[in-house]
Amino acid sequence: MRFSQLFAPTLRETPAEAEVVSHQLMLRAGLIRKATGGVYSYLPLALRVLKKIEKIVREEMDAKGGQELAMPIIQPAEMWQETGRWSVYGEEMFRLQDRHDRKFCLGPTHEEMITTIVRGDVRSYRQLPLMLYQIQNKYRDEIRPRFGLMRGREFIMKDLYSFDRDEAGLDESYNKMYDAYSRIFTRCGLTFRAVEADSGAIGGSGSHEFMVIAESGEAGIVYCEKCDYAANDEKAELHPICLPSEEQLPLDEKATPGMKTIVDLSQFLSITPEKTIKTLAYRTDTGTLVLALVRGDHEVNEIKLLNKVGCIQLDMANEEAITHTLGSRAGYIGPVGLTDKENIIIVADATVMNMNNAVCGANKLDTHYINVNPGRDFKPSIVTDLRLIQENDPCPHCGAPVKTARGIEVGQVFKLFTKYSTALQATFIDVDSKEKPMVMGCYGVGVSRTMAAAIEQNYDENGIIWPAPIAPYHAVVIPVSSKDEKQMALAEKIYTELNASGLEAILDDRNERPGVKFKDADLIGYPIKIIIGPKAINENLIETKVRRTGEVLYYSQEEYLSNVK
Ligand code: ATP
Ligand code: MG
Ligand code: MG
Ligand code: MG
Repeated sequence: MRFSQLFAPTLRETPAEAEVVSHQLMLRAGLIRKATGGVYSYLPLALRVLKKIEKIVREEMDAKGGQELAMPIIQPAEMWQETGRWSVYGEEMFRLQDRHDRKFCLGPTHEEMITTIVRGDVRSYRQLPLMLYQIQNKYRDEIRPRFGLMRGREFIMKDLYSFDRDEAGLDESYNKMYDAYSRIFTRCGLTFRAVEADSGAIGGSGSHEFMVIAESGEAGIVYCEKCDYAANDEKAELHPICLPSEEQLPLDEKATPGMKTIVDLSQFLSITPEKTIKTLAYRTDTGTLVLALVRGDHEVNEIKLLNKVGCIQLDMANEEAITHTLGSRAGYIGPVGLTDKENIIIVADATVMNMNNAVCGANKLDTHYINVNPGRDFKPSIVTDLRLIQENDPCPHCGAPVKTARGIEVGQVFKLFTKYSTALQATFIDVDSKEKPMVMGCYGVGVSRTMAAAIEQNYDENGIIWPAPIAPYHAVVIPVSSKDEKQMALAEKIYTELNASGLEAILDDRNERPGVKFKDADLIGYPIKIIIGPKAINENLIETKVRRTGEVLYYSQEEYLSNVK
C-alpha cells in the first residue's frame, strides 16, 4: 500500500469530544469516524487491525473444536419471552417492530437464538459436546456510550456457546475456552489478567473476565502475586474476606437453636453515623449464625469494616425484615452465606458461594435453604457500600498482601449450566435413555474493544504503539525526500522486497516534508520505521527505528531482509 492512496485521514488536533486516549488516537490517526453516539465506521487501517484480531480469535476457537456459524442480528421477541429476558433485559436492548407490529430486538447477545437452533436439531448425547461461535456486530443501547470503541452501542463480538451432556463436560469446555482466551490475548501482544467475576445479567455461576491492564480501565482488579488469586473488585469486595474467629465474636452461648439473638457487634465495626445502623447476629436452627447490618436510613452510605468482621448491608429498616431479606428470592441483596461448620460466618454474594451444600437464610423466620445453587436460586446482589479490598489487604486465598490494578474487560467466560436449556426446553436423550437439559456455557470476546484496549495499553505522546501481531502494517518505508530519485528508487525496492518476503509494509510516497511523514508514522503507530535518507544512499546504511523503544539500527541493503523481522 502506498500512503498517497491510503484513506487514513489524520488530524493534527485532538477532537474535543474524545475523553480517552484510544478514542482520541483512533480519530486522529484516521482509524474511525463517528456516525452517532456509540456507532462508528472503521476506516481501512482499523479494519486491518480488526481482521487480525478476528483471525487470531478464529484460529483459537477452531483449535478448541469451535465451529463458526452466523446467526441473525434481528431476533424475534418470542424466544426472549420464553426465557423471561424480554422484560428483564431492560433499556439496554434495542427493540423494533415490523409493519405487522411484531416485536424484535437487535441481538445484544445470542443465548436465546443459539439454544433455539440447537434444541431443534440436537436430540442425542451422540451429538454432544458442541461448540458454536460467530463473530458479528452486537447491539446494546448503553446508558453512556462513550470512550469511542470501548463502549459502543454497535460493536464487534465473538460469541461462542458450548453444549454438553453434564457439568463435567461443561467444566472441560469452560477450561478449553479459558485457555483459548489466554492464548488470544497473549497472541495479540497484550498484558492481561484473568479474574474471577460475577455472572451478571447473563446468569449462571462460575465466570472469569479477561482484563487488559490499563490505567484508564473502568474495572478495578485485585490480585495476589503469591497464589493465583485474582478477581474484579465487584467480586472481590463480596469475597469472604473477613471471618471472625469465635473468640472475637461475642456469640451468645446460651442462644438456643431457633432463638433470635441480637448482639452488639459495633466494637468490630466503625460505622457513621452510628445511630442509624443496627447490627444483628442471628442464630438459625442449626446453630449457624447469620451476621448482618441493617440500614435504617438511606442516607447512610459510609460503612467501614474493621479487619475481622464480615458483614453485609441490608437495605431494610427493621429487624423483622432481616429474616425476609436473607435469602429472599426477590431480594435485591444477595443472601448471607454460611458454611455448615458451626459459627463460621461467610458473608458473601450469592454467586460467591459455590461451595457444596451452601446454606443460606430463608425468607421465613428461623429457617434456611440447603443445597442452594447460588446462580440458579439467587440473583447477584447489589451491595454498593461494602468496603472494597484495597492494596495490601490480606488475600482471601492465602493471606498475603494483595495488589490492585485497573483493567479493561475484553472478554468473559461464563458457565450457564441449564438456565437457557431448561427455559427453552433444549433437551437430549442421554446414554441412560433419560431426557436431560443440555449444560451450557457462553464465552465472549469484544473484538472492537480489544483494538481500543490495545491502544489504551500501548501509546505515548506521539501516538499509537501497535503490538506487532495486530498492527495494521508492520513497517512504513519513508524516503526522506520525495524529490530525490535515488531515495525514492531505493525506498520502492525495499518496500517491494519486504512485501514479497511476507512483511506488511507501507510506502510513504507522499510529497510531504519529512517531519510530517515521521509524525504520521508515529501517530498511526507502525512498529517499525525504515528511513531512506542520504545515509542510505551514500553509506549503504538504512536507518531502522523501533517505534516502541526509539532504538535505531542500521543495516546495509544486503543485510536488510535477513535482519528485519
Ligand atoms: P461491560 O461490563 O463493559 O458492560 P459486559 O460484561 O456487559 O461488558 P459481556 O456481556 O460480557 O459484556 O460481553 C462480552 C464482551 O463484549 C465484553 O467482555 C466486552 O469485551 C465486549 N463488550 C461488551 N459491551 C461492549 C460495548 N458496549 N462496547 C464494546 N465492547 C463491548
Ligand atoms: Mg455491559
Ligand atoms: Mg462486565
Ligand atoms: Mg462481561
